[in-house]
Amino acid sequence: MTVTAAPPVARPPRPYQHYVYAYPHKTAYRELTHRPRLADVWAGESRQALSFYAHIPFCEVRCGFCNLFTRVGAPEGLTGRYLDALDRQATAVREALGDDPPARFANAAFGGGTPTFLEAAELARLCDIAERRMGVDLRAIPLSVEASPATATADRLAVLAERGATRLSLGVQSFVEAEARSAVRPQRRADVEAALARVREARIPVLNIDLIYGIDGQTAASWRSSLDAALAWRPEEIYLYPLYVRPLTGLGRHADPAVADRAWDEARLSRYREGRDHLLANGYTQASMRMFRRADAPEQGPDDYACQTDGMIGLGCGARSYTSSLHYSFDYAVGMREIRGIIDAYTAMEDFGGAVHGRAVDRDEARRRHLLQSLLQARGLAVADYRLRFGSAPHEDFPAELATLADRGWLADAGPEWLRLSPEGLAHSDAVGPGFFSPAVRAAMAAYDPR
Ligand code: SF4
Repeated sequence: MTVTAAPPVARPPRPYQHYVYAYPHKTAYRELTHRPRLADVWAGESRQALSFYAHIPFCEVRCGFCNLFTRVGAPEGLTGRYLDALDRQATAVREALGDDPPARFANAAFGGGTPTFLEAAELARLCDIAERRMGVDLRAIPLSVEASPATATADRLAVLAERGATRLSLGVQSFVEAEARSAVRPQRRADVEAALARVREARIPVLNIDLIYGIDGQTAASWRSSLDAALAWRPEEIYLYPLYVRPLTGLGRHADPAVADRAWDEARLSRYREGRDHLLANGYTQASMRMFRRADAPEQGPDDYACQTDGMIGLGCGARSYTSSLHYSFDYAVGMREIRGIIDAYTAMEDFGGAVHGRAVDRDEARRRHLLQSLLQARGLAVADYRLRFGSAPHEDFPAELATLADRGWLADAGPEWLRLSPEGLAHSDAVGPGFFSPAVRAAMAAYDPR
């Protein structure tokens, strides 16, 4: 008797592969040895609805899960020298952009690191640099600022509110003290609650609370208690982040490889579904896998920036800038010693007139970026917008990728005008995204040596 082997059963892909908050990822950037001048890089680019971003690479502690470009603490004088460099960079960028026509900014953000690591007077100076050097009218556009509970002090929040902050994002991560310790972000619940009270007292219109699921020791019950603690503040936005353990982070250094297994994937998927359902049942709408917005939250004000198409000016050593054909930044690292070196080099820099690290974005990459930044939103991709921009339909450009999503049940039946993920597709956003990376970007990311 001959025994025929059963056909292999295709395993579903791992759900937590890559958080696509920007494409291409910085690990695909390389040194631009010819250092293109910014005046040339921006020549002919639309500057009518730019986004402004300032990066402050300082934190009080290095959270165990964090792979962002930031250092712990700052020796005497470093934040002042950093702002001096930011001022020089702003002057050079403004000169490169020119005044014909003048740049117009549609939104602004201070991120990090922890922007509120800066003291109140330093935050005022940061706002001055944005307004006077770059011409960003902070009080007229949405301004988002990230903060940690310990640094969200009343004097700093007062400066930000007075200068026009419309959104304050507080990195809480967990209201459960044991989970906060486990994620190497020790904090007392009472201090977190006090910080939230200060944000509300500052009357910044939008409060966002970040929470993380998948922390060691977290259970369905403890996760629910963090969600309820956040909901008690009725924040206008809540972000739910899956925990990742990445190379060179605090958790990554000690990680047991067995942790990154299917059981952990399943636990995270369960916490995600519980969190999503709980927020939806409490008056929130889902904007993306991570983002939930209170249905009755006030509008943030004018925001005509379309991230798929418009340019971005980033200031600071970890900030990216985007034109239609080049994404650029400075050198990138995760390890603490490397980061310190890059920050020190930035503060000593005099010539900010050229692009140092980056990656060219051709038409194929622009298609992929547009698709990713639309499809990973709950509302999905408007086929007409895509066709207008590229002259083709997404199904013509990505037939195999979209067929795979359909086979997995990850596409919703949204009619011919919309391409939209199903609820399960949205749950698997971090597996959907990498499927649209180009071979060249994949190769560059794979060749990147974490440091
Ligand atoms: S998660 Fe935020 S607060 Fe924690 S180290 Fe990273 S940037 Fe700093």
